[in-house]
Amino acid sequence: MKTIGLLGGMSWESTAEYYRLLNELTREQLGGLHSARCVLYSVDFAEIERLQVEGRWEEAGAVLASAAEALAAAGADLLLICTNTMHKVADQVAAAVEIPLLHLADTTAAAVRAAGVRRVGLLGTAFTMEQDFYRGRLADHGLDVLVPSPGSRATVHRVIYEELCQGIIREESRLAYQAVIDELVAAGAEGVILGCTEIELLIAPEHSPVPVFATTRLHAEAAVAAALADRLGTPHPPKPVH
Ligand code: GLU
Repeated sequence: MKTIGLLGGMSWESTAEYYRLLNELTREQLGGLHSARCVLYSVDFAEIERLQVEGRWEEAGAVLASAAEALAAAGADLLLICTNTMHKVADQVAAAVEIPLLHLADTTAAAVRAAGVRRVGLLGTAFTMEQDFYRGRLADHGLDVLVPSPGSRATVHRVIYEELCQGIIREESRLAYQAVIDELVAAGAEGVILGCTEIELLIAPEHSPVPVFATTRLHAEAAVAAALADRLGTPHPPKPVH
């Protein structure tokens, strides 16, 4: 089994989900007492969020790049950045280490394509919904990406930072998100990407009339598949015949 390196704490509310999912998925695959081999570097999110707001992405990238180096030194064989937003600096992080980075937009796009969806809505932070680093990467996979109107984007962004990243789950916000999903569906979305790792704490499949793509779960599934590839992919050696 490979060791999964988690670059987390952005926020820790979703990193806790990553940890739970990695272990549950590993147990589903291997049974018994098996659990995921992993190392976690959890940052102080307040420091990262300040750099985001001030547009100091290069500095944020440097913080994450040195955290990635620490994960590699601790024995990680592959790397996850446990936030969609900070994939803005994914290239800077990937360049700092020899181990492969499992890019969240790639694992998400693969799942969307596999579901037969082409035109997909995207919910996430304003950075993720408005900038090209994530939308562009999805488009490179052949997806037509729709984002909510400016007012709805502001609501989605505010709920992420003021509530979900602080462990606050409010019914009122769930209803607001459902209204945004309806807006995307009316615009032609055949599915919706929950493109922020905390959104699946608020929105489940039953809250949407179209399939939702939960990025934390999809990322964790891809990581476990990669970590177990050798183990599950290699058949047991044949028993000697006497
Ligand atoms: N976890 C979130 C994401 O997936 C938002 C927090 C952040 O800004 O990193 O984008």
